[in-house]
Amino acid sequence: MKVLVINAGSSSLKYQLIDMDNENVIAKGNCERIGLDGFIGHKTADGREVEKEMDFPTHKEAFMAVVEVLTTGEGKVIDDVKEISAVGHRVLHGSEVYKTSTLVTDKVIEDIFSFRELGPLHNPPQATAMKACQEVFGKDTPMVAVFDTSFHQTMPPKAYMFGIPYEYYEKYSIRRYGFHGTSHRYVSQRYFEITGKDPKGTKIITCHLGNGSSLAAIQDGKVVDTSMGLTPLDGFIMGTRCGGIDPSVVTYIMNKENLTPDEMSNLMNKKSGFLGLSGISNDCRDIQKAASEGNARAQLTVDMFVYQIRKFIGSYAAAMGGVDALLFTGGIGENSQDIRYDICSDFEYLGLKANKELCMNANRKEVNFAEKDSKVEAWVIPTNEELMIAKDTVALLK
Ligand code: ADP
Repeated sequence: MKVLVINAGSSSLKYQLIDMDNENVIAKGNCERIGLDGFIGHKTADGREVEKEMDFPTHKEAFMAVVEVLTTGEGKVIDDVKEISAVGHRVLHGSEVYKTSTLVTDKVIEDIFSFRELGPLHNPPQATAMKACQEVFGKDTPMVAVFDTSFHQTMPPKAYMFGIPYEYYEKYSIRRYGFHGTSHRYVSQRYFEITGKDPKGTKIITCHLGNGSSLAAIQDGKVVDTSMGLTPLDGFIMGTRCGGIDPSVVTYIMNKENLTPDEMSNLMNKKSGFLGLSGISNDCRDIQKAASEGNARAQLTVDMFVYQIRKFIGSYAAAMGGVDALLFTGGIGENSQDIRYDICSDFEYLGLKANKELCMNANRKEVNFAEKDSKVEAWVIPTNEELMIAKDTVALLK
């Protein structure tokens, strides 16, 4: 069975066609600059590449281009679009309504659009993309929505509520939702598959470290706490996001600099974190390179990243009454051996003894880099959100 996985943004549409009989990616690509002009980059599993400029006034034309490139020309991998059994869509925000992945109906699309205040940059284009997809594929091709927030819906109220007047939760649904749920779910499930452990009775902390980063505390296979909040801004410093800060900093800067709420939001989402602190880049590799060359602000940025993550790990271990395994994933978690090792060192009091050599050689592999006699495991598990979305799609069709 072939499943098309879609990750739509406001001006882009990433796709992967996955053969679920063997879980192999048949082809993948990205339609960029939707609404501006248009460009498609497409790669097949056997190494063929197509890159061309096209006209994408809306997501609909982008979907038509995906169908065209999959079924004709140099990038062709299937004879007919009917070979695609279903489409799985990544959706950012499911509010409190969608606690699991769901088959897409007109009502689901309306709901996703109605959560636009919770996910202003993602939900509207994702709802639009679903409609466009329906138009191109027809309503007979089933579609499934997989939400970034749904895995975190098991958190208890004491973890998801904020200490503000209760009426704002009732009026505006303001609470902690958490994001990267598909990735946290994938790596935690993978951990249970690899180790053969029963989720019941286990306490793990998943660390998704990329351009956006979040941690999740998972007890008995269910999320009990996570670092991102109402939006992906909360937690610790990221590529361009500030993470959790004293809320008074927000009002103080707004008053001093005469900023509107949108301008302040922009400052915290796009100009802070690695970029704002270092003044160099939002990319972890650039920061690490500058730090190794003696740049003090770059070193401060790396130190803060590691320190803040260590504090979250400590607090989640306290919240769960211990921890059995740390799982690292995402661009930084999978590729930066130094950051991984720094996060895990001096954690003997928690029962974790990391093995430096194993850690240095664990990039992009599924490896436990803890010492044999370490009570706590430390794993690298490369994430695969697309496969998780495709698996949910198949499961819902059955
Ligand atoms: P996104 O959140 O956009 O999906 P990724 O998960 O791809 O991002 O992670 C991007 C981050 O991973 C960047 O900060 C990048 O510098 C970092 N990264 C990728 N490769 C390495 C590496 N070899 N060493 C350190 N950081 C890396």
